Amino acid sequence: MKDIPYARQDISQADIDAVVRVLGSAWLTQGPAIEQFEEAVAAYCGARYASAVCNATAALHLACRVLGLGPGDLLWTSPNTFVASANCALYCGASVDFVDIDPRTYNMSVDQLAAKLARAEKEGSLPKIVVAVHFGGQPCDMAAIGALARRYGFAVIEDASHAIGASDGAAAVGSCFHSDITIFSFHPVKIMTTGEGGMLLTNRAEIDARARLLRSHGVTRDPSLMDQPSDGPWYYQQTELGYNYRITDIQAALGLSQLARLDEFIERRRMLARNYDLLFDGLPLIPPFQRPNAQSAWHLYVVRVPGDGRKARSEVFTKLRENGILVNVHYIPVHTQPYFRKLGFQVGDFPEAERYYEEALSLPMFFGLSEGDQERVAAQLSRILA
Ligand SMILES: *Cc1c(COP(=O)(O)O)cnc(C)c1O
Repeated sequence: MKDIPYARQDISQADIDAVVRVLGSAWLTQGPAIEQFEEAVAAYCGARYASAVCNATAALHLACRVLGLGPGDLLWTSPNTFVASANCALYCGASVDFVDIDPRTYNMSVDQLAAKLARAEKEGSLPKIVVAVHFGGQPCDMAAIGALARRYGFAVIEDASHAIGASDGAAAVGSCFHSDITIFSFHPVKIMTTGEGGMLLTNRAEIDARARLLRSHGVTRDPSLMDQPSDGPWYYQQTELGYNYRITDIQAALGLSQLARLDEFIERRRMLARNYDLLFDGLPLIPPFQRPNAQSAWHLYVVRVPGDGRKARSEVFTKLRENGILVNVHYIPVHTQPYFRKLGFQVGDFPEAERYYEEALSLPMFFGLSEGDQERVAAQLSRILA
């Protein structure tokens, strides 16, 4: 029997045709497909501005740069995330710290965030930026985080790498209703793909303008941004230290075509999640909890295998893999990585994220997963857990 991966992109003939059209055009990069993709994502999410970049890690780095993060500053995020959500602070010479997770949603705990902010205010060590990660596609409680941001004066980046197509009440993720910036990832394991790719959304013109400048070397052709008159039509100026974080038109065309299918992708993932819920009813597993009002994009379907620490989960993981069900684990708590231990973090610092990690299991979840595949997963799970 064929292996079932935990995630997989879905590429249609229309997606392929869109890419091939760009390959025959005058523009492989810095052309019109990029702007079309940006405008379409901004409109879909209800944000004013969107700038496409080469991946979400670059978008996080630009977000931190644009928000002025630098040496001596602090960025806080969740330990239950991919390392990129924390590394963006280190790229800027700033320091990183974590806020432990909520035991039910596995997102950053708002209660713990509030308590840590109150302590930090007394000690004079408030963060400049909080990165809220919408783990598995379920949005964080952004109204609550936004209220804390106003009270304590920090900026908010939503790491929505898992969550394009999700919503929190009436607000679509990406609308930046309670944040300064939202970033998306278009890596093939995510909800929709451009191969590699990312985007930075905001409602503030000055954030968008600086992100665009920094994604392309900090170089401008706009005379109003220059410190002297132009030498001629060839003239450009570098006004800041930027990067080459551009996306290509080839990727943007794929993204635009995938975006047209996003609602279908999300609908299918929601159906698959409901179906897993029904199939696992009665098994000794903790199913994913959904916050009322939150509409997850279902990037991940994570169950917890309760037991004597990581042994139970590891056994289930190994036996599923032996049977062609290529499960995964999200995430190894970032603070326990050797690089972060060298920065002073220790195992035990964020116990809820560590307890969660010992039991977590990401089951196959992607657009092309069939009901038959899901029944195979359920049959194997009930056999292994019996
Ligand atoms: C995938 C991911 C990233 C990085 O995305 P890239 O596009 O691969 O750079 C960042 N944060 C989270 C939570 C992710 O899952």
